[in-house]
Amino acid sequence: LDRFKEVNDALGHLAGDEVLKTVAERLQALARKSDVIGRLGGDEFVLLQTEVGSPDSAVALAERVCRSLGEAISPNGERVEVSASVGVALFPTDGETSEGLIRAADMALYRAKNEGRATFRCFEPAMAERLRQRRAMQRDLREAVMCGDLHLVYQPQVNVGNGQLLGFEALARWDHPTHGVIAPAVFVPMAEEGGFVAALGEWVLRSACREAAAWETPLSVAVNLSPHQVTQGDLPSLVQEVLLETGLNAKRLELEITESVLIEDTDRALHVLRRLKAMGIRIAMDDFGTGYSSLSYLQSFPFDKIKIDRSFIANLENNLHSRAIVRAVVGLGRSLAVPVVAEGVETNSQLAFLRDEHCEEIQGFLTGRPQSVDSFRSLLYKGEAPGQPMPLRPDDDGPTDTPALAG
Ligand code: C2E
Ligand code: CA
Ligand code: CA
Repeated sequence: LDRFKEVNDALGHLAGDEVLKTVAERLQALARKSDVIGRLGGDEFVLLQTEVGSPDSAVALAERVCRSLGEAISPNGERVEVSASVGVALFPTDGETSEGLIRAADMALYRAKNEGRATFRCFEPAMAERLRQRRAMQRDLREAVMCGDLHLVYQPQVNVGNGQLLGFEALARWDHPTHGVIAPAVFVPMAEEGGFVAALGEWVLRSACREAAAWETPLSVAVNLSPHQVTQGDLPSLVQEVLLETGLNAKRLELEITESVLIEDTDRALHVLRRLKAMGIRIAMDDFGTGYSSLSYLQSFPFDKIKIDRSFIANLENNLHSRAIVRAVVGLGRSLAVPVVAEGVETNSQLAFLRDEHCEEIQGFLTGRPQSVDSFRSLLYKGEAPGQPMPLRPDDDGPTDTPALAG
């Protein structure tokens, strides 16, 4: 089932159970007496179709399953839209044992989910090869995390009103020996899947704090957290330990979380965030506007910053709605007395709009591309006072390759 977890979290377990029962009934209605239906885990079902004349009937069944489960379900009168992704595998070509067959169906399912969900895919031998490559990459990544074969790049965050440099966001990069530098959008999900995202996050936190502690200018450093880091383990103790070890003042550390952290286990997440805040660490709400953007989350925790997602900034020039949303979020931040940061600012006309709206901070290619900390050496080590103005290139109206603050 696609997005079952969200239904469960939003409507509660009783409604979730109702959804599962309805799904089971619908599957039963689609199957014949000779077929076998089972539930493998939380939201995963298996349908074993027997006595089929040709592979086409498996495809036809998959189509019927997608169509039937695509229709809204109404647990306790609430209307919910779940859908199903289906992976199809055939005996004996795709697998000769039950394990082999389920594994092949699983690979096809993975593909269906990756290609938009609410659809089905049939197993192809190439999937096994791709999965093997992905596993190999995952092994490489695990090793890289253990050996510290990653590095951090930094992007400046600048005050719009006076052009002062406030700090940097640390962004992880993986140097793969044969594939080159790999972006976090690729490897963070890989670490999540492999179950070692906490180790990755710990490496990032420790490295960012260590590097920032070495800067002569005491600017702030922002570190991204995966939801897993907040909801599992003991994050406040880890952060405490890292601060002690690196000597970084807690006031200089900012942790960025996304809304999904609060959706998963709100009470626990709030408890963790409050402990971090009590230590003097600032907490920023990242990618605001992309998730549920439930205003109750803003009410439930005193965030120190709201970061408007870069997709809204990218559309400022040609989309009235984006302008309205950015304006509204900046207004919301002002009413709540929470500074708002615009992400992904690339052009001076975007900056001009944000300045007119009294948005406090910006971050984006206009303030500098994420780069090694050495490229910011002049700002960090030459004894300049913190908060010197960043020349934001008033005449240039395009993305900048060189950091705007150089020179
Ligand atoms: P994010 O936190 O929203 O980080 C900002 C991303 O926007 C970065 O991509 C940055 O390179 C990119 N960016 C900055 N300025 C501009 C701009 O003007 N235009 C455009 N188009 N893009 C801009 P990056 O480094 O690839 O990171 C992607 C995402 O990966 C991050 O999004 C963050 O969610 C995640 N991430 C990065 N480092 C870490 C990490 O250490 N831990 C965890 N858990 N996640 C990380
Ligand atoms: Ca971020
Ligand atoms: Ca962001």
